[in-house]
Amino acid sequence: MRSCLLSGAHCYLFCLWALLVPPVCLQHASHHRRKDHGGGGDDGGEGSGRDKPKPKLLLLSFDGFRWDYLNRVPTLNFDALKQEGVKVEVVENTYITKTFPDHYSLVTGLHAESHGIVANEMFDPVLNRSFSMETDSIYDPRWWEEGVPLWVTNQRAGGRSGAAMWPGSDVKIHGVYPTHYLPYNASVPFEARVEKLIQWFAAPDEEAVDFGVLYWEEPDESGHNLGPESSLMDVVIADIDEKLGFLRNELKKAGLYERLNLIVTSDHGMTQLFPEKIIELDQYVSRELYTWVDKSPVVALLPKEGRLEEVYSSLLDANPHLNVYKKEDIPEYFHYRHNDRIMPILLEAEEGWTIVQNRSGTFMLGNHGYNNTLPSMHPVFLARGPAFRQDYVKHSMHSVDLYPLMCHILALRPLPNNGSLANVQDLLSVGPSLAPFARPTSASTSNPPSGVTSSYSYAPAVGSLLGVLMVLGFLVVFVKRVTLKQLPALPMQSREMSQPLLQEDLHL
Ligand SMILES: [Zn+2]
Repeated sequence: MRSCLLSGAHCYLFCLWALLVPPVCLQHASHHRRKDHGGGGDDGGEGSGRDKPKPKLLLLSFDGFRWDYLNRVPTLNFDALKQEGVKVEVVENTYITKTFPDHYSLVTGLHAESHGIVANEMFDPVLNRSFSMETDSIYDPRWWEEGVPLWVTNQRAGGRSGAAMWPGSDVKIHGVYPTHYLPYNASVPFEARVEKLIQWFAAPDEEAVDFGVLYWEEPDESGHNLGPESSLMDVVIADIDEKLGFLRNELKKAGLYERLNLIVTSDHGMTQLFPEKIIELDQYVSRELYTWVDKSPVVALLPKEGRLEEVYSSLLDANPHLNVYKKEDIPEYFHYRHNDRIMPILLEAEEGWTIVQNRSGTFMLGNHGYNNTLPSMHPVFLARGPAFRQDYVKHSMHSVDLYPLMCHILALRPLPNNGSLANVQDLLSVGPSLAPFARPTSASTSNPPSGVTSSYSYAPAVGSLLGVLMVLGFLVVFVKRVTLKQLPALPMQSREMSQPLLQEDLHL
């Protein structure tokens, strides 16, 4: 390899071609990364995206807003959203249908077994720590870092995010807080959360957020206390509609309503409980044999050492309204098996039934957490804005499909996820053909547990790399030719270099 493989005119032609390739590829890649295609009519085609306003997206969750609450009372603001945008009738959320797992699925596109927030109450045998949504344990980032929430990805790509009380949004995940966020405080009114978010969205361009998440505790709390079938829930649902009206008005006043994409959804639904439908574990197995980790209706049990079979066989046929699974037997379609935080035994109550140790505790009239194929567990879903079609009703989607959809709107590369943009592309006013990188693929990625797909395209990066390598190759050959002509041959030198730092880094 001492002589140039090309010579004379060929060498200069090669040089010219090689120098041209990388800039073309790099331009292609950066165009993919931040192309403004989320704004529908905003997209002016090649080369014009740089001066366009960035797409804006606000994701709002009304905790526990079951999809059919809209049929209970007049909900004029939800109706307006549907007319101005899209509605999805059936949204299958992720198992287990509880607040923390489902909210994290919405912003990661991952099933619970993949993002690691497998319940509201968890035990991690590797960390030897417990997590509870009721304690400060939620601020330990290690619980959250099996997934990457969209606000982190948005900021890594140069965007700015605002978060009002969304679960996990006041935790420093992967070293990053949202650009602006409100520390969780249930006593902060909905209106104050909205005003903060609008302030962040309406800031001058270089300071404005382009992605926001907003969380409100109702109608979940009332659903638990009153039961979803109570007529008193009608008042609560009407109040939520008014809150949505407040948000719409404030967005209009700030001049954001036509520019911003608004998604209104929830984590899960709610089902009615019955005082006579109680499963008391103390009747079947001694509580000395296990640790109770997560609560009804999907109860996680950690048997004491060596007592797994005893606990399992005691409960297996104990009650006809109780499903009992060893971890390895949890049905694959739940996507709820492949994580250390999923306990060796999982108990699942039939809809409407409650699992307790005994009847001494307080009793709720409504609950969620049940099988995610049950209609009562499904959330509401509506969206409007420049990225969305108008007056369009779609039959069904999975909640994990929302993540690639949001990435598409924000022109971000999605991380590996369980969703599919193809499943929801018909919601968009402009098809996803403008976002080559956002095509769903079945390519496996570095660490994709069970069915996680990647939506990356590496073509621009590979093209750029090839171009750079060609230029470097040419330069090496060129320099060698010049130096070999001008300098006398140097004696070969050989030196050994110790690398203690490398060894330390590897903890050898
Ligand atoms: Zn709840």
